[in-house]
Amino acid sequence: MKGSTVSVREEAVRLNPQLVEWRRHLHAHPELGFETVDTAAFVLARLKEMGVTEIRTGVAKNGVAAVIRGDLPGKVLGMRADMDALPVQEETGLPFASMVSGRMHACGHAAHASMLLGAARILTAHRGELRGAVKLIFQPSEETAAGALAMIEDGVMENPKVDAFIGLHTGNFWTGVDAGEIGYSNGPLMAAADLFTITITGKGGHGATPHRTIDPIAIGCQVYTALQTIVSREISPLTPAVLTIGVFQSGSAGNIVPSDCVLKGTLRALSEETRRELQDRIRAISEDVAHAMRGHAAVEFHYGPPATINAPEMTAKLLRAAGAVVGPEKVREVDEPTMGGEDMAFFLEKAPGVFFFHPSTFGGGRDYPHHHPKFDVNEEVLWTGTGTMAQFALTWQDD
Ligand SMILES: [Zn+2]
Ligand SMILES: [Zn+2]
Repeated sequence: MKGSTVSVREEAVRLNPQLVEWRRHLHAHPELGFETVDTAAFVLARLKEMGVTEIRTGVAKNGVAAVIRGDLPGKVLGMRADMDALPVQEETGLPFASMVSGRMHACGHAAHASMLLGAARILTAHRGELRGAVKLIFQPSEETAAGALAMIEDGVMENPKVDAFIGLHTGNFWTGVDAGEIGYSNGPLMAAADLFTITITGKGGHGATPHRTIDPIAIGCQVYTALQTIVSREISPLTPAVLTIGVFQSGSAGNIVPSDCVLKGTLRALSEETRRELQDRIRAISEDVAHAMRGHAAVEFHYGPPATINAPEMTAKLLRAAGAVVGPEKVREVDEPTMGGEDMAFFLEKAPGVFFFHPSTFGGGRDYPHHHPKFDVNEEVLWTGTGTMAQFALTWQDD
C-alpha cells in the first residue's frame, strides 16, 4: 500500500492536463437542474473509455451511477460529484466560456465532474489494490437542492449498498485555506437551508380611510421587525443562525391600502435543533403578530437540505489520504463552516462520510464569489481533488 501512496499523487499530477480538458468541455456546455443530458452522456462516454461496465444511467432523470469493483473483498464507498450549472450569463471572457446564453458553471460543478472522472481513471488502474468497490455518483440538480434526494429515492444507495461516502466542493467560499490545500471540518461544514414565504392578509381600501382597512403593509413591517429578534434575542449568541428576508412585496399605488403583503426569506442553521427552533418561531411570531393587528399570516416552508455534518472517523481517514497526496502541512481545518447549503447532506444522512473543501483560488484579487458571472476555478490544482478522492478510496478501509 505504501507504494501506491506515491503513485496516486504522481498519477493525479500527470492527469491534470486531462482534468483541465474535461473541465473545459463541461464548462463550455452548461446544463441546468435535472436537464443534464449532454453532461451525463459525456460522463458515460469517458467511463466506458476507462473500461467501466457497471453503469446505471437515468438515475433521477439524468444522473449517472457507476461501480468500480476492486479485486479484494470489502465495503462500498460512494463518491459524488454534482454536475449542474446556473442561470447566469457568463462574463469571464475565457476561451472556453459557456456557449449557452444565460447559463454558466458559476459554482465549479464542471470541475467536480472532471475530478471524479479523474479519480475513476486512477481507480480503474488500481483494481488489484482496491478493497470492496466504489460507486461513482454524478448528480444533477444540486443548485435546486433536489438532486441528491431524488437519486436516493431512485435507489442510488442500494445495489450495491453504499457503506460510506465522500464528496468535495471546489472554489473559494471558505476562509483560511488556499489553492493546493485541502480544507476540512470535524463536524458541520455547511448549513441547513430552508426557504419560507409569509403571506399576510389584511383588508384593502382607500388610502384616505385607513381606519376602514386592515393594512397588511403595517403588519408586514411589524412582522419583519419581530422576526429579527429571533436570532438577536432568542438563539444563543454562540450558536450560528441566519434569518434573512429577501423579498417584501405589496401594494400598487400610493393612495390604496392593499389587501395583502408577501415576505420571502431563508433560514440557515448548523444543527437540526436550531433549524427547528427557527422554523417554529418564524411561524409563531408571524401568525401572532398578524393576529394581534387584526390580520392573518400564512407561513409556508420550502424545506432544503439539513446541515452537512462530517463523521469524525471519516474525517480522520480524509486527513490521512489528503496528507499523502498534498502533504500533511497542506491539510487544514477551515476557520469556520459556511452558512451556504449543500444537498450532499442528504447522502451523509444515509451513510457516514466526509465532505471537504477543495480550494481553487487564484489570489491577487482575481477571485469572484460563487454564482458570480466572473467566477472561475484555478485549474492547476484539479489534481489535488482527484488524488485525494482516489487515495481515500484506496485506503479508507485500512486501520
Ligand atoms: Zn452553487
Ligand atoms: Zn456548488
